[in-house]
Amino acid sequence: MKRTLTLILILALLPLCSCGQTEEHGATVFAMDTVMELTAYGEKGEAALEAAKAETYRLDGLFDRRNGDGEIFALNQNGGGEVSDDTAGLLRKGAEICALTGGAFDMTVAPVMDLWGFYGQDYRVPDESELAAAMEKVGGKVTVEGNAVTLGEGTQLDPGGIAKGWASAKIIDIFRENGVTSGLVSLGGNVQALGSRPDGTPWRVAIQDPDGEGYAAVLSLTDAAAVTSGDYQRYFERDGKIYHHIIDPSTGRPADSGLRSVTVVCRDGALADGLSTALFVMGRDRALELWRESGNFEAVFIETDGKITATSGLRSLIYSDKEIEFFE
Ligand code: ADP
Ligand code: MG
Repeated sequence: MKRTLTLILILALLPLCSCGQTEEHGATVFAMDTVMELTAYGEKGEAALEAAKAETYRLDGLFDRRNGDGEIFALNQNGGGEVSDDTAGLLRKGAEICALTGGAFDMTVAPVMDLWGFYGQDYRVPDESELAAAMEKVGGKVTVEGNAVTLGEGTQLDPGGIAKGWASAKIIDIFRENGVTSGLVSLGGNVQALGSRPDGTPWRVAIQDPDGEGYAAVLSLTDAAAVTSGDYQRYFERDGKIYHHIIDPSTGRPADSGLRSVTVVCRDGALADGLSTALFVMGRDRALELWRESGNFEAVFIETDGKITATSGLRSLIYSDKEIEFFE
């Protein structure tokens, strides 16, 4: 009898446990050259995920510069043209971050990315003259007026440093529009959180240890994005030297600024993505100058000697087994 009662009790409770605000819905999407994990809680979660998946594929189609039907492809092919709101918005955001970072973020690095073979993974180390020729095309004009884009002579766009951040921000918007209040998107090194976990505690997001499988630190995140750029994410080796995929637009070479990775935390996913790439190029000290001036982001730096440093706004939001030095 007791058993039957227990069973009835369990059965009666089951629907309560498996629906409502704690019901977890997940989807895995392969787009933008990465595996994306989308999680949305609550009864609206499934519909929100379907809409978010469709939007992710749509954005990937627009921004992939190898896609002959895409808008970035068309701009590169034709030197300009009319684009959708998303592409225009992405380019405006890119220009904003370029200005903010003194050109450390610059989507016109495309010809140099291609020369190093990062486009198509046909890796090689270019010689000086090739590099000089490709550098002629870097830093060209990108004009966006409404939805009309004009590129300078020879200018080619590579949205790879910001596209995932733009997508994660859009996914979070879609979650919200669909009535979801708790969710997480993880697109490679890009994470963006909607609200907190269903139990009200912050999301916990790990920062990868550049040297190993484990984690260097863990961030507590509520309604924010955390985006990491690192030299270990995409690289090749030649003659014992590592060449990674974050290019210093002032030299045309992989940035060499004393960092293994930078994680940027802020509300705007696209800004976090563009900034993580830019701060990696700028190095810790220039990054800190920008942080003190702008005050709309926080950052964690893993330096080449393994030291972890961070901006003071993260003091109560970061945990690590290692010591972390904070900057004011
Ligand atoms: P990931 O794409 O691995 O998450 P990032 O966000 O740092 O890493 O973006 C690196 C990508 O950004 C490169 O693969 C390239 O497409 C592009 N890129 C490289 N250097 C720059 C730069 N200085 N400014 C803007 N985009 C860049
Ligand atoms: Mg980036």
